Amino acid sequence: MTQELQEKKLMHNLRQYEVPLQRYMAMMDLQERNERLFYKLLIDNVEELLPVVYTPTVGEACQKYGSIFRRPQGLYISLKEKGKILEVLKNWPERNIQVIVVTDGERILGLGDLGCQGMGIPVGKLSLYTALGGLRPSACLPVTIDVGTNNEKLLNDEFYIGLRQRRATGQEYAELLEEFMTAVKKNYGEKVLVQFEDFANHNAFDLLEKYSPTHLVFNDDIQGTASVVLAGLLAALKLVGGALADHKFLFLGAGEAGTGIAELIALELSKQTKAPLEETRKKIWLVDSKGLIVSSRKESLQHFKKPWAHDHEPVKGLLDAVKAIKPTVLIGSSGVGKTFTKEVVEAMASINEKPLILALSNPTSQSECTAEEAYTWSKGRAIFASGSPFDPVEYNSEVFVPGQANNAYIFPGFGLGLIMSGAIRVHDDMLLAASEALAAQVKQENFDKGLIYPPFSNIRNISANIAAKVAAKAYELGLASRLPRPKDLVKHAESCMYSPVYRSYR
Ligand code: NAP
Ligand code: MN
Repeated sequence: MTQELQEKKLMHNLRQYEVPLQRYMAMMDLQERNERLFYKLLIDNVEELLPVVYTPTVGEACQKYGSIFRRPQGLYISLKEKGKILEVLKNWPERNIQVIVVTDGERILGLGDLGCQGMGIPVGKLSLYTALGGLRPSACLPVTIDVGTNNEKLLNDEFYIGLRQRRATGQEYAELLEEFMTAVKKNYGEKVLVQFEDFANHNAFDLLEKYSPTHLVFNDDIQGTASVVLAGLLAALKLVGGALADHKFLFLGAGEAGTGIAELIALELSKQTKAPLEETRKKIWLVDSKGLIVSSRKESLQHFKKPWAHDHEPVKGLLDAVKAIKPTVLIGSSGVGKTFTKEVVEAMASINEKPLILALSNPTSQSECTAEEAYTWSKGRAIFASGSPFDPVEYNSEVFVPGQANNAYIFPGFGLGLIMSGAIRVHDDMLLAASEALAAQVKQENFDKGLIYPPFSNIRNISANIAAKVAAKAYELGLASRLPRPKDLVKHAESCMYSPVYRSYR
């Protein structure tokens, strides 16, 4: 059988399953049995299969990971391996690792603490690195750090695969991570990319800050989200007019996603207007579970919220915050659904001719509002994108297509750019370069439908363009170690990409 016929047959079989989890399991079996065919399917049918191997299905898979577990797809490093992590790494059959995605399972998607069962996330993310960004599968290493779980249900679940103890914290936790990061660099060198994924925010910010100066690290929940959302905003300027500096931003949710996006917007503003960061941050306001973040709260704020505590009297609810701040852009990143109410959207529409509304919380049930609500309540004037996908909406006999601010637009191309240039550190300017590269991929025909992101079908080409811009930045900043610099970086990116087509031995 040709690979094409095998692909056709498998797609036919996959579509027979009515339960998404069965599709997921069939895909995982295929990955184990015939890796090239797995990637051929994933690349050729990306829009259909992305929701199977990644969100939302991977979330359910993680919840049931213990009961569907067959073989370890990645490397588990538990507290019991303390003092021996380097040895454990050496047990992995592949030597030449370029990207590690690591989680400790404490904040899996919007599902909370899933302990060791979070392994589905590094596995899924790395298959996207290969399918969308063209990294070799053998160069990808999924890791789950097992420090226990506080999830009572899992602790009492006989199928649970991890340590049966409550999470280690403080010094014990920090020492294990320090040993891991040191062992990684020792075993794979300076140029291995470590992507932190789905850590709870009390660890995520600290780990990123601690290891950025010494390792090639990237946090997708903070930095990847920021880059993809900034790309959407830059693209949206073509629809609403004006410059980024003409806008005022209000966030609902001041965690990893919210403050990460806010900081990157402030940085871009500062580049564009030459104003200092402290100034540009003042155009950005955040609301957390206690209300608008203002300077009178400064003492009690977590450190990542402090830069956003501006002078203003306290405001409790979102509606009042919208009325007080009068933002042009409203971004939902709280994980709480149905918070962009009719009143909130109407208030945005009364302040702005074209209000920009991003409802980023996942999964779909947690979305701040639906696409239909955003378009209807704003009388068709809103520009809307969301974290979870929504179908096109017809309003007043016009069809609006909502965009999806999916991190998968950015991180595969971003990672490829780092790897192909041999970058040794991540710099914020690379994130800005990635945002600009993605925004530039949105075509007039996409804008005409109200889209601020390009279609996913073209993702490999998009990734190559992002990779080229990120690599160019790495060379410009003197952070690239692969010399000489290739002339045409887009061509070079394409030539680096893994192909899933069977090799011909004739
Ligand atoms: P996180 O770090 O836990 O932050 C959540 C924030 O929301 C916290 O600041 C929290 O306030 C605030 N919050 C919670 N309940 C609230 C309420 N009722 N009213 C106002 N604020 C409230 O979580 P995260 O990693 O930022 O993720 C947040 C959401 O964004 C998730 O649903 C995630 O799926 C989504 N997300 C989407 C994308 C994307 O679209 N590409 C990417 C990443 C994340 P306190 O600080 O006061 O507790
Ligand atoms: Mn994540």
